[in-house]
Amino acid sequence: MVVANNKVVSVTYELRKNSADGEVIEIVKDDNPLVYIAGMGSLLPDFEANLMGKKLNESFTFSIPADDAYGPREESAIIDLPLQVFMVDGEVDYELVRTGQTIPMRDQDGNRLNGIVLDVNETTVKMDFNHPLAGDDLYFTGKIVGIRDATQEELEHGHVHGHGGHSHDEED
Ligand SMILES: [Zn+2]
Repeated sequence: MVVANNKVVSVTYELRKNSADGEVIEIVKDDNPLVYIAGMGSLLPDFEANLMGKKLNESFTFSIPADDAYGPREESAIIDLPLQVFMVDGEVDYELVRTGQTIPMRDQDGNRLNGIVLDVNETTVKMDFNHPLAGDDLYFTGKIVGIRDATQEELEHGHVHGHGGHSHDEED
């Protein structure tokens, strides 16, 4: 069995940025692998494409340029918001609203997005809504640690059930 559409694939990997020996961003190990249904489009397209056709226990090394990953850093994604936006009952929680904090927010259309606080002053909060990996080339090394057929129910739900996946009350 190889990685193909509608297979449930488990992978371990190490992600570094900007070079093969660059800063480690993420380490995903055997005890908690990434589990996904191939071909559902839930991961970066280039990530999925690089794993297609791989066998169980096969190792991989590939990189994804920033433009094909999380895109370039955009100055327009750095926004000064009025301090009032962060007020609850007329008060600002400065434990939350402080430089370096990531704050979950919603845009005008109700989409969730995370912003990182760059600066806080008496009237405004400077937020960076770029993805934390925007502008970074991604370097992955890893291994395929599981491949199985997705169940009909998983395909209907569009996500993995059981170990490493989504759990429902009706499941054990
Ligand atoms: Zn489900």
